[in-house]
Amino acid sequence: MNIILLGPPGAGKGTQSDFLRDQYGLTKLATGDMLRAAVASGSELGKKAKAVMESGGLVSDDIMIGIIREAISDKNCPNGFILDGFPRTTAQAEALDAMLAAEGKKIDHVIELEVNDAEMVARISGRFSCGKCGAGFHDSFKPPKVKDTCDSCGAVGAFTRRADDKAETVAKRLEQYHAMTAPLLPYYRARGSLHGVNGMAPIAEVTTALQKLIGKKAAA
Ligand code: ADP
Ligand code: ADP
Ligand code: ZN
Repeated sequence: MNIILLGPPGAGKGTQSDFLRDQYGLTKLATGDMLRAAVASGSELGKKAKAVMESGGLVSDDIMIGIIREAISDKNCPNGFILDGFPRTTAQAEALDAMLAAEGKKIDHVIELEVNDAEMVARISGRFSCGKCGAGFHDSFKPPKVKDTCDSCGAVGAFTRRADDKAETVAKRLEQYHAMTAPLLPYYRARGSLHGVNGMAPIAEVTTALQKLIGKKAAA
């Protein structure tokens, strides 16, 4: 099974794709995480991506398509994949369709997490994650059970905040989303594969809605 999770920055794509990975045994392909790892390692890719990411812009389609081409291999995704953060432009969506068609594969579900702009800003400004295992948290909506301690791996004092989650950059990222990524909604709607889920609901309710959608479709 192959899934695309669409939605603006802060919609909950990362949070929900962790659940879908664990529940359905899918490989989570989060392009933002891949790029941040490249920046941290100082690789050629990281050097190219760093300034663009910090400005809230989009990394070039050529680079992103190259990353995904490698990532979606059967070897890497034995049970299928969940895409979090890709595609982000129409060119990326078209390239993905062509890659999948060439291998006789398809996307089973394209799911939009629907949230409004005010909620996105609240989500992003309180977001932090565990630098050891990557688990995501939020100051108000998902605080760790024990202060300064990761619920998932137990690391203490290892929380980090993203460089691009600051107020100046968030406005640019939202603008990019509306201009470049929102056109993917009619693109997938026209193919009959788009489903909306209310992303404004609490985390557990969003997960239940996703499970209903995916479980139901899988059985049909
Ligand atoms: P995305 O990957 O779409 O940018 P995240 O999954 O990182 O979004 O979520 C952004 C922030 O909002 C995180 O701090 C996360 O803990 C929190 N969050 C995610 N989903 C919800 C929700 N349904 N309600 C409240 N907060 C949420
Ligand atoms: P968010 O969780 O806020 O939606 P991501 O972690 O997915 O953000 O992405 C962080 C940044 O990485 C983006 O602002 C962009 O600069 C870059 N990026 C990630 N995925 C893509 C993509 N598919 N195309 C272009 N740029 C991307
Ligand atoms: Zn952790």
